[in-house]
Amino acid sequence: IEKSTFGGQVTFSPKIENYPGIPEMTGNEFADKLLDQVLAMGAEVEMEKVTGIINEGNRKLVFAGAKKYEAKAVIIAVGVKHRQLGLERENELTGKGISYCAVCDGPFFRNKDVVVIGGGDSAINEALYLSSIAKNVTVIHRRNKFRAAQSTVDRIKQKENVTLMYDSVVKEIVGSAVVTGVVTENVETKAISEVKTDAVFVFVGMSPKTGLVSTLNKDNSGYIITDEKMQTNVPGLFCAGDVRSKPLRQIVTAVSDGAVAAHSVEEYIQTLNK
Ligand code: NAP
Repeated sequence: IEKSTFGGQVTFSPKIENYPGIPEMTGNEFADKLLDQVLAMGAEVEMEKVTGIINEGNRKLVFAGAKKYEAKAVIIAVGVKHRQLGLERENELTGKGISYCAVCDGPFFRNKDVVVIGGGDSAINEALYLSSIAKNVTVIHRRNKFRAAQSTVDRIKQKENVTLMYDSVVKEIVGSAVVTGVVTENVETKAISEVKTDAVFVFVGMSPKTGLVSTLNKDNSGYIITDEKMQTNVPGLFCAGDVRSKPLRQIVTAVSDGAVAAHSVEEYIQTLNK
């Protein structure tokens, strides 16, 4: 059951280069192939927003739109959502220069100046993508070391139209009808400066979408805890992908979680049938 776009966060990814066996593809291509494959295997796909899951022991009820599904087991793979900066006028200027998706909005800023905020894999990958579209890209990161994979950090450092601004935080977004700049503060020197820009792409991390399942055990950051069989603390409720508490969030680990969860569900249902 999918509420909006089959594939979720991966569809925002301009280029996937770390999935074994497939050297390069876009996130959309990957999601389309996945959908074709599961449909060919006989899975039924429903486009609905799940609004609740009720655990009645051996029977789970899943509410989606006007429908109610009854299941012996449920795999929760609801993923994560992007975090906001929390700055004044951030919501007001979203779509008017502030964006959380380079694939969706990057082409509007062809040959213009853009700012990317963040220092993780998303920020550096999306900055690399934007460097092929925009005139200049300024990456603003709050520390002096990136958290992203070293290989992509090395690549971004080679780009002539990318400026890396370390130890800096954005204090204010400038612009009335549309974004025209950002005011930054150097966290070491406290120096304030303004960077003129046509767009601000925000990639400051993700938070898990766990509103549906308040009774499940979670780690300190709110991600769902499972055992190595992807079983949560509630028998019959399994969890897979980015919403699960784990050390590495990549497509390959999400796919791995999914395979383990599906296998565990099969075993679990067999125990119910005994
Ligand atoms: P992330 O790894 O949590 O990185 C978030 C970045 O934003 C960090 O550099 C953080 O700074 C910075 N940040 C957080 N709050 C901020 C704030 N209020 N102001 C300014 N900067 C702020 O998030 P992500 O890059 O979205 O990645 C999420 C997960 O998906 C990660 O596990 C990542 O590895 C994975 N992912 C993998 C790939 C890939 O495999 N190619 C691609 C995309 C994402 P600090 O470094 O100082 O904490």
